[in-house]
Amino acid sequence: MKRAIDDGSLELHVHNIRDYSTDKHKNVDDTPYGGGAGMLMTCQPLFDAIEAVKKENTGPVIYFTPQGERLEQERAETLAETDGFILLCGRYEGIDYRVRESLVDIELSIGDYVLTGGELAALVTVDSVVRLLPGVLGDDASAHMDSFSPGLDRKKEHPHYTKPAEYRGMKVPDVLMSGNHGAIEQWRRDHLQ
Ligand code: SAH
Repeated sequence: MKRAIDDGSLELHVHNIRDYSTDKHKNVDDTPYGGGAGMLMTCQPLFDAIEAVKKENTGPVIYFTPQGERLEQERAETLAETDGFILLCGRYEGIDYRVRESLVDIELSIGDYVLTGGELAALVTVDSVVRLLPGVLGDDASAHMDSFSPGLDRKKEHPHYTKPAEYRGMKVPDVLMSGNHGAIEQWRRDHLQ
């Protein structure tokens, strides 16, 4: 991410929702109507924060929630091609539903487990997108050769080896050191796992 920011391929702005609270204690949460455990993030700071950010960023608003669509490589590829997006991280039991209805365009989950907040989900998302931006990885081709990339068998990757050629008696397959690119490609296809 740092490299992407330094070379101008990525702009990242972090907004503290609490800064938008008009409450004198800067509160951003309250108890749920109808009762039940936990607190919910209230409308006012969220509406004001999102509307302020939307003035600078016209991309979709993405809210992280375990009920959202699972973040997949395809989504990362689509996001890498958009000019920008706004990531909304929930806390507590989540956010007032009116925010979801009025301002959220996409709901994403990073997996079937519950986190304490959306921040890690946001980092996972940004990380998966940033490495697809041109020039961010040392070798551009590598991002597109990874598991899940379109055209490659999903979830499959061949084994990788680096130096030394032998470690604790375990040898790197000869073919990988043969320089025979056709044979290497064939070996890699045969060993997808
Ligand atoms: N009450 C909610 C859980 C809230 S967890 C429920 O039962 O579904 C608090 C916040 O953490 C959420 O608002 C969301 O922004 C974030 N979060 C938790 N788990 C997540 C996941 N698997 N993927 C993405 N965001 C998640």
